[in-house]
Amino acid sequence: MSTETSTETTEAPEAAENGAAATNGDLAQPTFSMELNQDQKDLQEWAHGFAESVLRPAAHEWDEREEFPWPVVEEAAKIGLYGFDGMAQLFADPTGLTLPLVNEEIFWGDAGLGMSIFGSTLAAVAILGQGTPEQIGEWIPRCFGTEGDLKISAFCSSEPDAGSDVSAMRTTAKYDEAKDEWVLNGQKAWATNGGIADVHVVVASVDRDLGSRGHAAFVIPIDTPGIEQGAKVKKHGIRASHTADVHLDDCRVPGANLLGGKEKLDERLARVREGKKSKSQAAMATFEASRPTVGAQALGIARAAYEYSLDYAKERVQFGRPIIENQAIAFTLARMKTEIDAARLLVWRASWMGRNQIPFENAEGSMSKLKAGEVAVWTTERAIQILGGNGYTREYPVERMHRDAKIYDIFEGTAEIQQLVIARAISGMKIS
Ligand SMILES: Cc1cc2nc3c(=O)[nH]c(=O)nc-3n(C[C@H](O)[C@H](O)[C@H](O)COP(=O)(O)OP(=O)(O)OC[C@H]3O[C@@H](n4cnc5c(N)ncnc54)[C@H](O)[C@@H]3O)c2cc1C
Repeated sequence: MSTETSTETTEAPEAAENGAAATNGDLAQPTFSMELNQDQKDLQEWAHGFAESVLRPAAHEWDEREEFPWPVVEEAAKIGLYGFDGMAQLFADPTGLTLPLVNEEIFWGDAGLGMSIFGSTLAAVAILGQGTPEQIGEWIPRCFGTEGDLKISAFCSSEPDAGSDVSAMRTTAKYDEAKDEWVLNGQKAWATNGGIADVHVVVASVDRDLGSRGHAAFVIPIDTPGIEQGAKVKKHGIRASHTADVHLDDCRVPGANLLGGKEKLDERLARVREGKKSKSQAAMATFEASRPTVGAQALGIARAAYEYSLDYAKERVQFGRPIIENQAIAFTLARMKTEIDAARLLVWRASWMGRNQIPFENAEGSMSKLKAGEVAVWTTERAIQILGGNGYTREYPVERMHRDAKIYDIFEGTAEIQQLVIARAISGMKIS
C-alpha cells in the first residue's frame, strides 16, 4: 500500500459497483475473497493518503483541544469522504469489505478525528435500516449536510440508567392523536455529537411494559423546541469526538418523524403483545449492523500502534543493539501482527455476512467487535511498553492510541455484553 498519496485534491475513486471481481460465476451472492479488487485497493489507498496527510498531523492538537474538529471534517467533505455520497459509496460495495477497509485506514490516522468523521454514520444507518423510503430520502442527506453547509448527526439510545441494559430505558414517546404528533421526555447520555448535531435519532419507549420490544426511533431536528444538549463529557480518549447528554422536555415531533411509520409500529407492538417475536428492536438493530465496522476502527488503532512500535524497536539501541533483537520485544511484535491479522479476518467475515444478509447465527458481528476491541487495547498497551518512558509521554502517539483504544471495549456493547450475545447464540440458552 502506498503511503505517499496526497489527498488534498483527490476525490474518491469510483465506487466498487462490480461484485464482479468477487462474484462466483452464476451465483448472485458475491463470494468471500481476501484478494481485494482494484476498486477496493484504490479506495483503501485514497483513505490512507487522507489519514496520513491530514489526520496524523492534526491528531495531537485536537486531542488536546477536546472539541469537535470542524476544519478536519470539512477537509473530509472536500474529498467526498464525509457526506451522503461518500457514505453511499462505502455501503455500495456488494462484498461489504470497502466499509471496514476505509474505516481501518481512517482510524489508523487518528481515532478521535475518525470518530468525528464517521460518528454521523450511526444515525444515518438507523434511518437507512428502519426508515421508509421517504424518510431515507429526506433525512439521510440532512445527517451530513453539503460541502459548503456541513451538518452532523447523533444516535441517542443510552441513558444514565440504561447502558448495557437497554430495556431499562426511561425516555418515553407518547402519541398525541389529535395533533398527529409524538411527545418525547427523558434524558439521553453519552451521545456522540449530541446537542451539536443537526439531526438526532432518538430511541424512546412507546410502551414501557414491553421493555426493549416497546422501543421506537424518532428523528428530531435540533431546532425542535424541547431538545437541548446537557453536560459535555470530558473523556479519557477519542477526545476530539464530542460526547454529551441530550435532554428532551416535552419535545414534539410530527407523526412522520417516527422511523418506519405508525402503521408498522402498531403491527409490531400487536405481535409482541400476542407473545409473538418482534422482528427488530430499534437500538439493537442499529448496533448489530454496525459492529464489524466498529471492529475495523479498533483495528486501525491497533495497526497504527504496532507499526509505530515496530519502527521504534528497530531504531532504539540499548546494550549496544536495537531492542528488537531481544526476543521479548520481537515476539511481542510477532504476536501483535498475528492478533491484528486474526481480528481483521473476523471483521471482514462479519462485514461480508452483514452486507449479504447472511444471518449471524453464531453472533459473528459481536465476535468481530469483541476480538478487535481487545486486540486494540492489548496492542496499544504493549506499544507503550516497547517505547518505555517515551511511550508514557504525550510526545509520542502511542499513549493517545492506548487511551483511544479503550473505548472499543465499552461502546456499542461492552466486551462482556458481546460475550453474552455470543454465548447465547452458540448455546441457544438463556445465559445471563
Ligand atoms: C465515548 C462514548 C461514546 C458513546 N456514544 C454513544 C452514542 O453515540 N449513542 C449511544 O446511545 N450511546 C453511546 N455511548 C454509550 C455506550 O454505548 C455505553 O457506555 C455502553 O453501552 C455501556 O453502558 P454503561 O456505560 O451504562 O455501562 P454499564 O451498563 O453500567 O456497565 C458497567 C459494567 O458492567 C458490565 N455489565 C453490565 N451488565 C452486564 C451483564 N449482564 N453481564 C456481565 N457484565 C455486565 C459491563 O460490561 C461493564 O463492564 C457512548 C459511550 C462512550 C463512553
